[in-house]
Amino acid sequence: MFSKILIANRGEIALRILRACRELGIKTVAVHSTADEDAMHVRLADEAVCIGPAASRDSYLNVAAILAAATITGAEAIHPGYGFLSENADFAETVEAHGLTFIGPTADHIRMMGDKITAKTTMEALGVPLVPGSDGELKSLEEARAVAEKVGYPVLIKATAGGGGRGMKVAQSASELEEAWSVARTEARTAFGNDAVYLEKYLDKPRHIELQILADNHGNVVHFGERDCSLQRRHQKLLEEAGSPVLSAEQRDAIGRTATDALAKMGYRNAGTLEFLYQDGQFCFIEMNTRLQVEHPVTEMVCDVDLVREQIRIAAGEELGYTQSDISFSGHAVECRINAEDPDTFAPCPGTVAVYHPPGGLGVRVDSALYTGYRVPPYYDSMIAKVIVHAPTRAQAIARMHRALDEFVVEGIKTVIPLHRRILADPEFQKGEYTIHWLEQFTSRPH
Ligand code: ADP
Repeated sequence: MFSKILIANRGEIALRILRACRELGIKTVAVHSTADEDAMHVRLADEAVCIGPAASRDSYLNVAAILAAATITGAEAIHPGYGFLSENADFAETVEAHGLTFIGPTADHIRMMGDKITAKTTMEALGVPLVPGSDGELKSLEEARAVAEKVGYPVLIKATAGGGGRGMKVAQSASELEEAWSVARTEARTAFGNDAVYLEKYLDKPRHIELQILADNHGNVVHFGERDCSLQRRHQKLLEEAGSPVLSAEQRDAIGRTATDALAKMGYRNAGTLEFLYQDGQFCFIEMNTRLQVEHPVTEMVCDVDLVREQIRIAAGEELGYTQSDISFSGHAVECRINAEDPDTFAPCPGTVAVYHPPGGLGVRVDSALYTGYRVPPYYDSMIAKVIVHAPTRAQAIARMHRALDEFVVEGIKTVIPLHRRILADPEFQKGEYTIHWLEQFTSRPH
């Protein structure tokens, strides 16, 4: 086992990793920008190294500074968290080339899944069902037209290098295709430096359902069931559940088997998530995330597992020590992402937290790096906390989340807590009747 790990991240996820390390008896090294000198992850870590100025590209994305920090402090492994360098294959490779362990999959697997066309063709060959669409990259507008006619409108033009919901454009009909084609390509070129695009049928009422996988270096692959992440705004998740309100245990077992078989054949290792769109009883693979995800706590609650601890154990070469039949699912979990944003306009709202009082009680978990007097910097992601609840049934989990959010005090900055309250009180949400399009419609309703 490692004796010291460097955490190449900030905010709640840096704390999350730090907590797992501490319980394993591992020393931690925090890295931080000049804007994060007072951050909680810096205060709680055993050692902290400033790696650059506020802008992410000069600090949290500064590979040379992070490696120097690891070398100076004698860290043996680096946990990248999510975002920042977590899906950067070159970073993973550089870390390993310096004799350190990257806590995650191999650079080759990160690269393979980071390119969505390669990810889809790889998964298809391994027997995973896909959204109907083009066979790889579209070479011309004419080819796009032909594929769109075949699968039927509406269609979606997507960037192979896409992420965070960018580089994706819908064409409702043939007349919109040319514009979607050129806008998606321009966006992809600007944002990712790669304008390769592909086409998928645009599903009208899917749910976003994803599967959590863990694989060790000894050929053992297991899944921890599904998360339903259909509540999204601009393709960004806002509220997640485990399990999905629409999936039966048999369906979970079936897709779980398909996914674990595929990853076993690939020789995948560490944590990964397969994302699917689910409509009319069919699963269609859309992408794989080769890292820990923001919403991992809902899985931890229903499976009683510490996924970060498992990631560290796997990276250290340990065997999982359990099989699929040892994993059971208990109750229901819900996570609300609390963003420092205006709940109506979604404009970011950084500033000083005048009063912070998190909720507590049975089945309530708060993952956050906030404290009273903390100044939320304007430079990074606006998510400031995650509230996760666990209860025997979905209805009880919703009631518990309502109660927890009522207790949650964050003064001085605006947050999306009022929006979460409205969602939780909505009869359609309570019945579990929602698709990926539901939240956009909900937020445009007068209230
Ligand atoms: P990103 O990597 O940018 O997050 P994804 O491929 O994971 O892109 O898609 C993000 C979201 O976009 C999905 O969760 C879903 O809401 C929507 N989406 C993606 N593909 C389709 C599709 N074929 N039809 C309808 N919605 C889609």
